[in-house]
Amino acid sequence: MKSYFFKAGCARQIDFFVKEKSHGKMLNFPATVMLTIHPKQGPILFDTGYSLDFKKATKYFPEKFYALAVPMQVTPEDCIASQIRNLGLNAYDIRHIVVSHFHGDHVGGLRDFPNAKFHFLKSGLDLFLSKSRIGQVRAGFLKALIPDDFYERANFLNEEQFVDDPTWGRVIDLFGDSSIFLKDISGHCHGQLGFLAPNAEFTERNVKQATFVIADACWNQDALGEHYKLPFLTKLLQENPSQYLSTLMQIRDLMKAQPHLSVIPCHCEESLVQQKAQLMAQF
Ligand SMILES: [Zn+2]
Repeated sequence: MKSYFFKAGCARQIDFFVKEKSHGKMLNFPATVMLTIHPKQGPILFDTGYSLDFKKATKYFPEKFYALAVPMQVTPEDCIASQIRNLGLNAYDIRHIVVSHFHGDHVGGLRDFPNAKFHFLKSGLDLFLSKSRIGQVRAGFLKALIPDDFYERANFLNEEQFVDDPTWGRVIDLFGDSSIFLKDISGHCHGQLGFLAPNAEFTERNVKQATFVIADACWNQDALGEHYKLPFLTKLLQENPSQYLSTLMQIRDLMKAQPHLSVIPCHCEESLVQQKAQLMAQF
């Protein structure tokens, strides 16, 4: 399966959120979206980034607090529904979207895909829905981004669907064909899912290369290094800091066990550049 990576808008934040030693520099935090072409299911999106709907949803208070806390930029051309046109696809071609979690920078484009089925962990969404409007904004959830017919198109995944895979540990095998595995990478927020796609030409026991997109399990690839110490602020911003750390450890262990695993945090500019370069090299 071939995967493509897109930057669907970008936030700017000071480096002390992610760097062990801050220089007070502003950094880009792209909202990365992955599109994977499945031989039977067609093009599948993992997250949808920012969008014009995000701008609309954060125009007035209290939702505007979100946009003020995380300044972002997105143009009509940045929206994922526009960018897939470069691959000869349009929004109606997308029949599946896996939602890592329901923060506004990951679900910004959901409304742009009228044919898509949404795959996500139900418990992750339920927690956001149980909050007050202010509580939702504080947690990074914008209800206006959820399509009106969302529930008719939702595939509610739950904890009982995880099974033990000899290579990847606890996973949901999304289509039952070992092409896409979803992993629970909670910590940043409850019910966050990672998207793991082994290359189809390799069997389960001979995985030479696989892509694991880990949403916000960490914000840059430095954090995947064994000796990296998380900045205090990074820990502070997670819904469950101790779970965040144990998830990060599990990802590091998986990387050690599978040296050909390519791990991609969604807001890491370096990872995005590397993935795009790799893809170019294949042509
Ligand atoms: Zn995010």
